[in-house]
Amino acid sequence: MQLRYAVRGAVWVFIYLLFVLGPLFALLTGSLPPARDFWAEFAVAIGYSGLAMMGLQFGLTARFRYVTEPWGEDVIYHFHRQISLIAVALVVLHPIILFALRPQRLAMLNFFQASWRVNSGALSTYALIALVVMALWRPMLKIRYEAWHLWHMVLAVVAVAAGLLHMVGFGRYLLDPRKQALWIGVTIFWIGLLLYVRIVKPLFVLRRPYRVAEVRTERGDTWTLVMQPDGHPGFRFSPGQFAWLTVWGSPFKITAHPFTFSSSAAIADGRVEMSIRNLGDFTSAIHEVPVGKRVYLDGPYGAFTIGNPADMHVLLAGGIGVTPMMSMIRTLADRGDRRPVILLYGSKDWESITFREDLEALKTRLDLTIVHVLENPPTGWTGERGFITAEVFKRHLPPPYADHEYFICGPDAMMDAIEQALKELGVPLSKYHSERYSFV
Ligand SMILES: Cc1cc2nc3c(=O)[nH]c(=O)nc-3n(C[C@H](O)[C@H](O)[C@H](O)COP(=O)(O)OP(=O)(O)OC[C@H]3O[C@@H](n4cnc5c(N)ncnc54)[C@H](O)[C@@H]3O)c2cc1C
Repeated sequence: MQLRYAVRGAVWVFIYLLFVLGPLFALLTGSLPPARDFWAEFAVAIGYSGLAMMGLQFGLTARFRYVTEPWGEDVIYHFHRQISLIAVALVVLHPIILFALRPQRLAMLNFFQASWRVNSGALSTYALIALVVMALWRPMLKIRYEAWHLWHMVLAVVAVAAGLLHMVGFGRYLLDPRKQALWIGVTIFWIGLLLYVRIVKPLFVLRRPYRVAEVRTERGDTWTLVMQPDGHPGFRFSPGQFAWLTVWGSPFKITAHPFTFSSSAAIADGRVEMSIRNLGDFTSAIHEVPVGKRVYLDGPYGAFTIGNPADMHVLLAGGIGVTPMMSMIRTLADRGDRRPVILLYGSKDWESITFREDLEALKTRLDLTIVHVLENPPTGWTGERGFITAEVFKRHLPPPYADHEYFICGPDAMMDAIEQALKELGVPLSKYHSERYSFV
């Protein structure tokens, strides 16, 4: 499995590089315009590469399960963020170098006097800068997620479309019809990706609706939504995976929210459960969802799932990060799996431990040890207090630590601390898996 994913991952990396660098190299073949000095050619080359990278961003966020599987959705989104910084740097450097070579070009910045081909380049660059600023500082700018998401998409389309116009407008390297055909092909591919994400995929989701069968109140300001497939058999998922949920509106609206399945993956009738903590405007309304309501699920996604049966599984959960662990534990119990499982579970206090009773009951069905770590323990508490640290590991896990498989999900600060502690304990990267709820 690991090897298969590694090979598939390497193939996708190769294809990605081919799409970014291929058109650039293709421009250097066939008939060429008279050469200019190195820096001018370099500025043009990085402009082309930056644009190709931006276009490919539509593919990275298109939720192609087959592409994202080797890494997991959060890693892909992380890559999407990092690579867009590089792409924007290339696009911004492109005019800066050209201005530095010939400062009189700065006059082109006058929107009213410049030609459309210059203005489209400027528009593309401004849209990209706005896109990055909004993505990096959304919380500081106090922009609501939904509004930001809409702007993110509009700015991305404007940036790429205007960039293409700019490229065609100057067209220095596009005189050869084969090169024109290549870039027309690349553009059609990008438009195709966009149409797939916004129209084809939502159509698939629309044709496979779910009905809410129950809304269960859980400890810790959390509700479990039980959903039954409506007129289709549903899908199979691996414990730890998640789906995008749309409750109000159709899958064409950009309002889907990601939630991990908390139910067992061994349920045969397609029923799925998501346990949702009240953390904002959407999640606070979940308890009002009426039974029988039609909802939509786009999934399953993610690579955060149980591993080698020979390894002890150490599940490290903070707060609502317990949902994937719950699905893993329920699935292992249903499958009669006997591997040892330790759940180190950090919560605010004793009363807010989501699934507290369910977990206790599951202890009788598999080799499960639960260690609660409480931030505000009640008086007389003799268990762990504070946060999950390397010291807590050492008290409850048998060495050698590198022999176990670790699954981490919770607030970012907790995850960073645990990953650091695992590194210090000599646990290799291949032995721990993380799911970050804050990836978008
Ligand atoms: C892979 C994954 C699995 C998750 N599983 C669970 C789970 O099992 N249970 C649970 O309670 N929570 C889970 N979450 C978190 C959950 O998606 C957010 O808490 C929820 O979307 C917040 O929406 P809101 O409108 O209530 O809050 P808001 O106050 O609007 O948003 C709070 C933050 O949540 C994120 N967010 C908001 N809307 C979206 C959206 N449409 N898509 C993506 N992120 C968004 C943004 O970072 C935002 O800043 C998961 C998140 C991810 C990424």
